[in-house]
Amino acid sequence: MQYVKDIVTFGPRPIGSTNHKKVEDYIFAHLKGDTVEDDAFTIDTTEGKFPVRNIIAKFPGNRDGIIVIASHYDTNWPLRDTSYIGANDGGSSSALLLEIANQISGKKRDGYSVWLLWDDAEESMRLPWYDPESLYGVRHLAQKWQADGTAKKMKAFLLEDMVGDADLNIEREENSTPWLEDMIYQAATRLGYQSHFFARAVPMEDDHQPFLALGVPAADLIDFDYGYNNVFWHTTQDTVDKLSPKSLEIVGKVTLETVAMLDKK
Ligand SMILES: [Zn+2]
Repeated sequence: MQYVKDIVTFGPRPIGSTNHKKVEDYIFAHLKGDTVEDDAFTIDTTEGKFPVRNIIAKFPGNRDGIIVIASHYDTNWPLRDTSYIGANDGGSSSALLLEIANQISGKKRDGYSVWLLWDDAEESMRLPWYDPESLYGVRHLAQKWQADGTAKKMKAFLLEDMVGDADLNIEREENSTPWLEDMIYQAATRLGYQSHFFARAVPMEDDHQPFLALGVPAADLIDFDYGYNNVFWHTTQDTVDKLSPKSLEIVGKVTLETVAMLDKK
């Protein structure tokens, strides 16, 4: 939870901004001592050219294959001049990945390699959502990882998005790979957290799409019911007071339990 607070303290973090750079530095500083790949490039949009940066921390395992756990860390560019800080949207999941790094860093992994991915430019250049001008970071990586053979080694792509809501209801996301969703529900049930999972089923367009298109098993852990009628989503009301450390703990533990189940699969 402290990491969420740290991230939003920088203010709005749209692509191309000084605050965005500060969050990049914050993530890199946290990963000091770990193996980190810096995937920086430029995108050309209808609003101009922007620098984009995916940050990937790699934790090797003793089994051949990779599990990627991802979160975007940017906030919406169209909201750049507001006080929109995306505490839940981008903040919660990026913070959770920092804590997952703490949990697995420096330990021998008995299983697949785990790569933590803070991806960039997920948010679209127009509101509420504009498909061709969004998901830039993951689309770039999917292309790169298809070309260099990484995609073939990927056993699962686990996406975290809007995971901090105090009233936690993770969706059964309908574009996700069904067997992987089943495994997540099994993991949640083992830990006694099943009441927070899959009460409703909704399809979401999110960072997992480009990997699904490559045939990589992928799941989107997302709570898209954020405040009554989703009133906090992409508004300046998406602030830390709506979140709960318990929700972060639940999603983090279920994610790591799913990884453990994948390791043994
Ligand atoms: Zn968003």
